[in-house]
Amino acid sequence: MLGDNGVIEVRHLTKTYRMGKQAVVVLNDVSFVLQRGEALGVIGPSGSGKSTLAKLLLRLEKPTSGSILYEGKDITQTRTLSLCRAIQMIFQDPTGSLNPKMKVADLIGEAMLIHKLPIDVDFWLTQVGLATELKTRYPHELSGGQKQRVGIARALAVQPKVLICDEPIASLDVSIQAQILNLLMDLKKRFQLTYLFIGHDLATVRYVSDRIVSMDHGRLSKI
Ligand code: ADP
Repeated sequence: MLGDNGVIEVRHLTKTYRMGKQAVVVLNDVSFVLQRGEALGVIGPSGSGKSTLAKLLLRLEKPTSGSILYEGKDITQTRTLSLCRAIQMIFQDPTGSLNPKMKVADLIGEAMLIHKLPIDVDFWLTQVGLATELKTRYPHELSGGQKQRVGIARALAVQPKVLICDEPIASLDVSIQAQILNLLMDLKKRFQLTYLFIGHDLATVRYVSDRIVSMDHGRLSKI
């Protein structure tokens, strides 16, 4: 049950994909509570169902069965603007997740515009450690780390409660991975965020997480 401190509760979540005549169970009876202010790490090998869990939490896909509660309300079938604002995602590949035809200012500003929030691109660039001059650049004019910082600014700019980080450093150069992890940890504290941090590398997940669960063939277990 969702206690006073729970933000998200997942109950018996199952996702099955049809592959021809076969049904493949990708998530199998997954249940957990994400506590307010914690960073919950989800570790597991490639193909274990981690990204599918993220997609279901963002309600980009519907579960086959089970439910998702946000602050005590069943949101399994709901995708309102305010819920989209509350639960944001940091993607693995910043290049693929940023529209290449938009300048940094518009990439970040668009998110605030959609949610009718005051547009303050400079503030969010500063929060993620980027110079405000970068706002006139296109994604291809940025480094991998800078692009990921723009992705983080874009997610943060709508002032979410929960950030789902799906392998946010996996596509980055090793030399800048730690910087992005440290940034995420600083931001968590600064904006009192709750994280679901997905990864395949135990050392990385352990570094940022208060608690870790492991995913294997669609099943979640404590470690
Ligand atoms: P992870 O993020 O842990 O690498 P995924 O959630 O991406 O795992 O994938 C879990 C399994 O679900 C994989 O075997 C993948 O091939 C399968 N899968 C993911 N999305 C689909 C889909 N849309 N249709 C069919 N199978 C899928």
